Amino acid sequence: MSRIVYVNGEYLPEAEAKISVFDRGFLFADGVYEVTSVIDGRLIDFPGHAARLQRSLCELEMPRPVDDDALLAIHRELVARNGVGEGMVYLQITRGAADRDFAYPAEPAPSLVMFTQVKALVDSPKAETGMAVITIPDLRWGRRDIKTVQLLYPSMGKMAAKAAGADDAWMVEDGAVTEGTSNNAYIVTGGRIVTRHLGHEILAGITRAAVLRVARESQMQVEERSFTVEEAMAADEAFVTSASTFVMPVVRIDGQAIGGGAPGPVARRLREVYLDEARRTAI
Ligand code: PLP
Repeated sequence: MSRIVYVNGEYLPEAEAKISVFDRGFLFADGVYEVTSVIDGRLIDFPGHAARLQRSLCELEMPRPVDDDALLAIHRELVARNGVGEGMVYLQITRGAADRDFAYPAEPAPSLVMFTQVKALVDSPKAETGMAVITIPDLRWGRRDIKTVQLLYPSMGKMAAKAAGADDAWMVEDGAVTEGTSNNAYIVTGGRIVTRHLGHEILAGITRAAVLRVARESQMQVEERSFTVEEAMAADEAFVTSASTFVMPVVRIDGQAIGGGAPGPVARRLREVYLDEARRTAI
């Protein structure tokens, strides 16, 4: 079924939507993005995604084509036009089309593209079985806090995971886990939830922020610090968070079972509490 997508002010059937071959997103990965999940036709954590988008744009000195109110309206219009009950809305802003030059254009005309993807997110089979991850070196650039569309290395990591019969890869730098290819990584050890502290090395997940908030509100102990692969292997539980997976248990790391090889109680509970909160605050 053909979707209606949004391109620079127009709602169009996906086959009619066009972007210039000179678009800097295409030529230089000069673009940022956000993925907002949809449950029961409503947007999850929209203000968080809008705030992170603004930060990414500022870090890259990229002008924005529309304000937050307009962005929210386009999100809602796309969800309505495509009848999305559950799934996500993808948003991408690039510095737009200009003659190919490494220097930014003096007067950029930023481009905004948005589309929807229908997907069952809440009743995911992996939430029941847990997922397997492999570890790979983190070879990405040094500003992973900016949510850019340079996703080739994470994509290669995902392929390496598939080739190894796993679901995803955790990236490792200086002996410590940074994050998953498209999610934040956690372990549960000594009764505490441990996840990498924020900085240029990881993306500040919107789901991460919400999950840590509900964990603390539920009197769980949280530590934001680096952890090693060895510590993860010996942990009671492991899990990841992202907008499209919420809280997803990890039951194998490099082939070794974690905490008995089945989703643990902390990850299960956090998924429930997070989903309750996400539904309650959806707009
Ligand atoms: N880390 C990386 C590298 C990501 O690509 C993502 C999501 O795409 C996340 C973490 C999780 O962020 P969020 O919870 O905002 O989806």
